Amino acid sequence: MSYRPQVVTIDDRAVEHLTEFCRAQGLQKLFMVADTHTFAAQGRAVQEALVAAGFDFKSIVFTDEEVIADAAHLFDVLVAAGGEARTYLAVGSGTLTDITRFASHRTHSQFIAVPTAPSVDGFASIGAPLIVHGVKITVICQAPLALFADLRTLAQAPQKMIAAGFADMLGKLTSIADWRIGHLLWNEPYDESIALRTLAAVQICVDNADAIGQGSPAGIRRLLDALLESGYCMLDFGSSRPASGAEHHYSHYWEMKLLREGRPAILHGAKVGVATVLVAGLYDRIRQLSRQQVSDLLEAATWPSRAEEEALIREAYGELAGDIVAEHKAFLDPTAAQVETLRRTILERWEEIQAIAAQVPAAQEVAELLVRVGGPATVAELGLEESERDLAVANGHYLRDRFTVRKLVRALGL
Ligand SMILES: [Zn+2]
Repeated sequence: MSYRPQVVTIDDRAVEHLTEFCRAQGLQKLFMVADTHTFAAQGRAVQEALVAAGFDFKSIVFTDEEVIADAAHLFDVLVAAGGEARTYLAVGSGTLTDITRFASHRTHSQFIAVPTAPSVDGFASIGAPLIVHGVKITVICQAPLALFADLRTLAQAPQKMIAAGFADMLGKLTSIADWRIGHLLWNEPYDESIALRTLAAVQICVDNADAIGQGSPAGIRRLLDALLESGYCMLDFGSSRPASGAEHHYSHYWEMKLLREGRPAILHGAKVGVATVLVAGLYDRIRQLSRQQVSDLLEAATWPSRAEEEALIREAYGELAGDIVAEHKAFLDPTAAQVETLRRTILERWEEIQAIAAQVPAAQEVAELLVRVGGPATVAELGLEESERDLAVANGHYLRDRFTVRKLVRALGL
């Protein structure tokens, strides 16, 4: 079921729209979640307008350099919000919105999103990516009641956040292909109209890469429109499947590793962009395989045993391994018949797999698009080690029970 925001505006009057909306809806008690950066960018104007208009206004403004959607920050929000029912206002980019989405949902409140950077596609979605005991999971919550975006604020967002939003959109090039592969080979639920809508949104970003890279209001508007459309596609499908494939699994792997090692976080979209280059590289390899080669590979390949897989997961994830083994159950315990069906389907439907792969741009092309918008295109530019690229490729796919090109490559023994 889809619950889109009742009102969405993207223009130069976000604060006015917000004030009018709260008044018209009789939302008298408000609680704003921001951090020092987003407070400076937009939160102060929101606060001044709402206080001047006589609303009962409370807020929390995080002062830490790095806000994480984890237990500590959620606890702080609940304490600051107090015991009265209030409508939450998320003034910020992805993380602040996700903290607010979760806290408001779990206190039976609603929230309004005031994005300050076009950096992720999750603003209007229902899922809140959270860090729970060091593991990145997505908790189904709620979409915002309304969303008011101030175009000038978005255009003034740090360039790396704009590039990250663009890169999160580029990730759909592989996530949609992965979704199609998952549908074809693993019978995952699929909706062609949603896949096409997502791809149309990516195309608009690709066509406007230069305007987005320059941070022009017209380019930023298109980017936010595309990010919102990707969010609606998730809402309409009921999960993040259209927007998240192997590239997001690599990104989640890096995110968890950085967190575990106490290293600074990297923007979600920046990681997704680099991972998209890597996953597009897997599609490059798929495109090079003839049916005969696939037949030979399948002949030689063995499906890893549960014990082997568990050992790899333990090595990669340490004390988090238990949760990941549980999440990954469908792939750890396939019946012999399931494995046989998979192998047969890969061979029988190789032409369709090729047609899906043909729609993914070459890794080189994806990298060039990232560079055009000024974002990182390699793990080194992300500030990660080369070895961490290989670790993500080896271990990222354990984080979700979705069939992606990474699973296909594994089934082929590559
Ligand atoms: Zn994303």
